[in-house]
Amino acid sequence: MGKYETVLLDADMTLLDFRRSEREALSKVLAAHGLPHGGGVLSAYSEINDGLWKAMARGKTTQSALVVERFARLVKLLGSHEDPEVLNREYEQGLGREGYLLPGAMEFCQRLRDGGLELAIATNGLPAAQWGRYRGTGLDRVVPHLLVSVELGAQKPQKEFFDRALEALGAADRSTVVMVGDGLETDILGADRAGIDTVWYNPEGRPLAGPAVPTYTVSSYDEICALLLGGRLT
Ligand SMILES: [Mg+2]
Repeated sequence: MGKYETVLLDADMTLLDFRRSEREALSKVLAAHGLPHGGGVLSAYSEINDGLWKAMARGKTTQSALVVERFARLVKLLGSHEDPEVLNREYEQGLGREGYLLPGAMEFCQRLRDGGLELAIATNGLPAAQWGRYRGTGLDRVVPHLLVSVELGAQKPQKEFFDRALEALGAADRSTVVMVGDGLETDILGADRAGIDTVWYNPEGRPLAGPAVPTYTVSSYDEICALLLGGRLT
């Protein structure tokens, strides 16, 4: 038997193509408000948004503040007077309708499930967006649990996020749990703090930076399957 029984899977850019969802949802909202929505604007938004999520991971802001702040900064950049709260609300609703799996993600989850592993998505995203895309992509038929930070009352990389996730799953023995994700400052750092082994999914070959030290680093779904299913009878 393999060492692990429960696999926590990050959602965005591990299973779901968040970049594409973001582009589609954002350009629709901006267009609906008569705002520019070309590639330059979308890149500027992405940069603002990524910076704020990283700031949140360092405890510098909160999720409820950042979701409005990102649009406040964008409308300022565009010289517009649109209400950032309205833009954010419409954007979040739109995100839930724009779910795209990364290539091979469904088959990857099916292989892990068929290998007898208990699967759960563990994500910091926004509930409406995460539940909408989980169901819309059909991931809900393969991965039986979706654990969203807002609903757990803690977020990656907080240890409490993982404590509550494992409690919800009834996984008492942490040595049998592994976190798989692309986020060093969230998935890897947080799981490590909670005493859970980690697989850093790094298909783009980014350099290891910051305080997080993954147990394993991989660049493909095949490698993750070999690692987690090795020795298992499938
Ligand atoms: Mg991610």
